[in-house]
Amino acid sequence: METRYIFITGGVVSSLGKGISTASLGALLRARGYRVTAVKIDPYINVDAGTMRPYEHGEVFVTDDGGETDLDVGTYERFLDVDLSRADNVTTGQVYQTVIERERRGEYLSQTVQVIPHVTDEIKRRVREAGERAQAELVLVEVGGTVGDIESLPFLEAIRQMRFEEGRDRTLYLHVTLLPFLGTSEEFKTKPTQHSVATLRGVGIQPDALIVRSERPVPDASRRKISLFSNVEARDVFNAYNADDVYAVPEMLEQQGIGRFTERLLGLDKVLPELHVWQEAVRVLRAPDRRVRIAVVGKYVAMPDAYLSLNEALKHAGIANRATVEVEWVSAEEVAEGDLGFLSDYDGILVPGGFGVRGIEGKVRAARLAREHDVPYLGICLGMQVAVIEFARSVAGLDAANSTEFDPYTPHPVIDLMPEQLESSDLGGTMRLGSWPMRVRDDTLLARLYRPGPDGTVHERHRHRYEVAPDYVPRLEEAGLVISGVTPGMEGRGAGLVEAVELAGHPFFLGLQSHPEFTSRLMRPSPPFRGFIEASAARADARREAPAAIPSGPGSGAS
Ligand code: GLN
Repeated sequence: METRYIFITGGVVSSLGKGISTASLGALLRARGYRVTAVKIDPYINVDAGTMRPYEHGEVFVTDDGGETDLDVGTYERFLDVDLSRADNVTTGQVYQTVIERERRGEYLSQTVQVIPHVTDEIKRRVREAGERAQAELVLVEVGGTVGDIESLPFLEAIRQMRFEEGRDRTLYLHVTLLPFLGTSEEFKTKPTQHSVATLRGVGIQPDALIVRSERPVPDASRRKISLFSNVEARDVFNAYNADDVYAVPEMLEQQGIGRFTERLLGLDKVLPELHVWQEAVRVLRAPDRRVRIAVVGKYVAMPDAYLSLNEALKHAGIANRATVEVEWVSAEEVAEGDLGFLSDYDGILVPGGFGVRGIEGKVRAARLAREHDVPYLGICLGMQVAVIEFARSVAGLDAANSTEFDPYTPHPVIDLMPEQLESSDLGGTMRLGSWPMRVRDDTLLARLYRPGPDGTVHERHRHRYEVAPDYVPRLEEAGLVISGVTPGMEGRGAGLVEAVELAGHPFFLGLQSHPEFTSRLMRPSPPFRGFIEASAARADARREAPAAIPSGPGSGAS
């Protein structure tokens, strides 16, 4: 089948949930058996999202090939169940970088290099290449930002040209807008949508369908009105009203016929989609067998999307355990002082990835409480590093052990930079990024969770600078820390770079240098997350049967 392209634009306001709409349509096409991929276009000038603040823009997602991308790429991976590449997040910065480099090499001969055609050609080349890379039958292309933005114009022009080049039956334009509901007059206001469609038409794109976002379901009268002024048939005005969960969106849109619409316009065979996994997820989320309360001890974040993949991985793990996971953010700075008893009230404690010294001592204390009071603990990246620091200080007798990221003068730099390893990596930059193998030691919690194949290795994605210092590994192991995962092929690094640590005799205490949340899927929850929630649910069940006295926190004693 020849590749077909579905272009998604947005209007009225940003943060409309365009990514979810795009991903949901992708899920519906995947559920029909098509090979689907997705491209996120970000019209900003940053080359990638790696340098952007997650507390403003949402998390930096990491792909297998080490790309630091917009979080929508993570949403696509989860909804489409595909592994995408750094090249699937196209930015203005990348496009111009390529065009300018080419110009410097003299590849444009004597031409004047211009937005049209040179920049638009490069955009189209990247979009087509994404389809080829994934050998996709259907390519979803989401243009970030809103129509009318100056910076998105070259992208809109490029996708306009693509209909001309690829043909009508191989391209589809979907426009996502907002339909505000005015409480005072009790009505949906269609005017912003009208203006947005007019703006899109102004750059030469007539949408084939609209997805209108709204707080509550939109009545037929509003659809008919929108249809009149937008030249889109009323049945092709789809309504994504606020759902109780994002996993309910694919089916919501399917019920309104978006799948059949796509088949009709792109000349695809009629296929009944297999939506079982989505329906089952929504069913568990609405009527769980149990609740599990997890404390996530980290920096206080007002931006919920700053840890999007982490939240989704916890949700996947909850669904697999037929549980709702109630995630409560506990500010690490608050945990740094005072009584910690309240933390053992949770069913599990998670310390997520992070950068910078803020709240570190609180995270160390949280790891200690989990270790001493048998509370299930999952440490992700920084969360593993603080678990090692805590163990080094309290158990291995390495006073004032620390990471050189937080204390350059620590007498025991148990977490440190690995200059040689970074130099030998061909991934560039100063971080260990993307997918790395982890050799799993037999007879460990890690082995039980991952059940690796005969070669004993699994892969997870990384994004960090610091490592457990190999020189300290023997002393930590002597004191009882179990190094259950290492990076293979790191000869001359003692046992290898530490990928995972755990404690024998603890119900669940696991730290991972990688970020397994990035690869968690509804259809395949991440093993460490699944195990963590299982252990936390067991603790919840046990405590319900025999409520224990709340132990006081480890405020006293050596540290
Ligand atoms: N700041 C730590 C490092 O760079 C951990 C990073 C992370 O948690 N992603 O190694």
